[in-house]
Amino acid sequence: MVVANSIERLIANFSNGKYSHAFLVETNNIEKCLKDIKKFIKVINCPNNYKENCNANCNLCKLIDIDNLPSIITIVPDGNSIKKNQLLEVQKKFSTKPVFTKFNTYIVCNSELMTESSANSILKFLEEPEENIIGFFITINKESILETIKSRCEIIKNYYEEGPNDNDNFYTDIAYEYIFKIFTKRNLLINKDFMLPLGFNRTQYESLFNKMVQIYIIRLKENYFPGNNLNDSLNISNNLAIKQLRIIEKTLQGISANGNIELLLDKFVIEMRKTHD
Ligand SMILES: [Zn+2]
Repeated sequence: MVVANSIERLIANFSNGKYSHAFLVETNNIEKCLKDIKKFIKVINCPNNYKENCNANCNLCKLIDIDNLPSIITIVPDGNSIKKNQLLEVQKKFSTKPVFTKFNTYIVCNSELMTESSANSILKFLEEPEENIIGFFITINKESILETIKSRCEIIKNYYEEGPNDNDNFYTDIAYEYIFKIFTKRNLLINKDFMLPLGFNRTQYESLFNKMVQIYIIRLKENYFPGNNLNDSLNISNNLAIKQLRIIEKTLQGISANGNIELLLDKFVIEMRKTHD
């Protein structure tokens, strides 16, 4: 349940023609906040008058959901920090006008992990905002953000009340999303960044992969995925499902055994891709 979902207010304000070019969003749940910001991005860009579950029929909203538009960049920490290069890359990419969307939008997750030189590298960008660029800095603690960044952003709070089932539903949704990608977007698997852009920590990846294992097991038991957004055309053979389940389990074991997450995810996408050959 949402306590103070300022993103909804942001959406309302935007339709009144009021918006800032940069937001510092303080939250207690980066993943949920990212999801809500994506909703905002859909609302402001959707060519079909965005409605709930727009992605079922709307190509643009679908592409926003799977992080597959050049005009939307989500930055997650590279190791323990947000690196200067990651922010310079955004500025380079957004030096041209957006093609498929009205706005170029970047989202920096865990922006409290920006180094001082990263923060400085984006100052000028924030000082001279272009009409069609919107930036979000999501943080769990705005006090750890440099004053120079803070003063250039509209600061909003977006807090969520954590219910007992929230977590489970959250991972179920994401797990289905990734399984959907494994089935339908095999070319995306070349790059682990398309697969897992959320910047999870180890425990969160464990929960996600655990959920995927459960879903595959249900799939194998019932030979279809019940009650979700995968349709029948995605039915795969039991052989393929078993192969993919093994890869998911192997990755999960590696994550639980304290293995290098980046290497494990790289391997995961390469092996998943092979199952389609
Ligand atoms: Zn749409």
